[in-house]
Amino acid sequence: MSTPLSSESHASSETALHAFMEHVIAQSPGEPEFHQAVHEAAACVMPVVMATPAYRNAKVLERMIVPDRVLMFRVTWVDDHGQIQVNRGYRVQMNDAIGPYKGGLRFHPSVTLGTLKFLAFEQVFKNSLTTLSMGGAKGGSNFDPHGRSDGEVMRFCQAFMSELYAHIGPDIDVPAGDIGVGGREIGFLFGQYKKLTHRFNGVLTGKGFDWGGSNIRPEATGYGAVYFAQEMMATRGQLLAGKIAAVSGSGNVAQYTVEKLNELGAKVVTLSDSDGTIVDMDGINAEKLAWVMELKNVRRGRIREYIERFKNATFLEGRRPWSVPCQLAFPSATQNELDGKDAKQLVENGCTCISEGANMPSTPDAIDVFIKAKVLYAPGKAANAGGVAVSGLEMTQNAGVMHWERKRVDDTLRGIMKSIHENCVKHGSENGFVNYVRGANIAGFIKVADAMVQQGVY
Ligand code: NDP
Repeated sequence: MSTPLSSESHASSETALHAFMEHVIAQSPGEPEFHQAVHEAAACVMPVVMATPAYRNAKVLERMIVPDRVLMFRVTWVDDHGQIQVNRGYRVQMNDAIGPYKGGLRFHPSVTLGTLKFLAFEQVFKNSLTTLSMGGAKGGSNFDPHGRSDGEVMRFCQAFMSELYAHIGPDIDVPAGDIGVGGREIGFLFGQYKKLTHRFNGVLTGKGFDWGGSNIRPEATGYGAVYFAQEMMATRGQLLAGKIAAVSGSGNVAQYTVEKLNELGAKVVTLSDSDGTIVDMDGINAEKLAWVMELKNVRRGRIREYIERFKNATFLEGRRPWSVPCQLAFPSATQNELDGKDAKQLVENGCTCISEGANMPSTPDAIDVFIKAKVLYAPGKAANAGGVAVSGLEMTQNAGVMHWERKRVDDTLRGIMKSIHENCVKHGSENGFVNYVRGANIAGFIKVADAMVQQGVY
């Protein structure tokens, strides 16, 4: 049967895209985030696919939207009250054309197979952009760590790994953290992997420094998003210093985004969580950030507590940061957290640079607003690739049984973000404007597509 992009097709890119998306939606019903992610990428790469018979003959795009395999399993564990709890566990191994599967684990009640398929699909492009050899994957569970004791989190992680361990390994699939999975969870997962396999190896990244972790891995995603913003601003002869920044979220990515922005002389005025946003027009300086890190990472509290400690700050209940005037925006919480209305308000308020720490935080409407306004807008697959890049460096260090110094890792991260930026400019420039969405998608796609063509039909 002929598929939407069959080799004999002479359809225009637009017609082909329409037919292709109908095919994707019919094949994966009920997965709107996955459709959204595929549509964004396919809209950018379709002209390349239509102009390249080798890609069409090899059905590269049709293959890229179907995971190599999906693991789905039950996770059964006992809570502190002796009650049995049942969760769902997943690992989506999306594409290993350019290296072993690599991508985070997300523990959040909203996790579904569709969410993880969108994240795994994005990961394939992102990992390709890093210049390192890593395929794409994503996994997780609908388990909610909020309000759970350390013992409960440990028992859940052990039960999760008891299913996953047989399908991962340092040259097979190397999971890492994501929402709800930080150093504590990676520790529990690694302990159980070792117990089951009798192997101490680089099966996970984001490990503790003394047992195989890399310098700068906790910082990498946030730092990378700021380095990317720095590169974008430089194309217009501007610096981050002196600019006002809005950051959303208050987890790992948000925290280190604030740290690097402070270091570079910007003033961060917001942080948020799912309850609302704190606004501190005096700036969230290093001392206040240290307090937030203790609140979120040790006491596991809520961001609203900030206004009790810092009296000049205010709390916007149930609101996101995007109504607060700023020149720089760093969406660093979750997908679809910034819609068309938010984007208009940001642009009207003078925001000229948006660098996504989160995965797909801007809705398609929001992206349209940014592109039409010709502001500097970097999608997550480019701007937040620093996290997985340093995970790749952690794998390199593990393979060589060595630790690199902080400066070496940070310099390498900075170099990788610079080269991702250059690649986006190369593939995304149009009439003096850089469309980073197009640049990131085309650059990420070509490397994977070429590898798939060269490796034949498998
Ligand atoms: P954390 O779990 O450390 O923090 C997540 C933050 O986002 C919390 O403040 C959380 O608030 C908030 N959040 C989560 N879900 C929602 C929601 N539905 N609405 C509003 N706020 C929400 O996760 P990370 O910082 O690691 O991840 C943040 C984003 O960055 C995600 O999109 C992730 O995929 C992406 N990312 C992370 C990487 C990493 O290295 N960690 C690498 C690349 C991308 P609350 O506590 O209320 O849930």
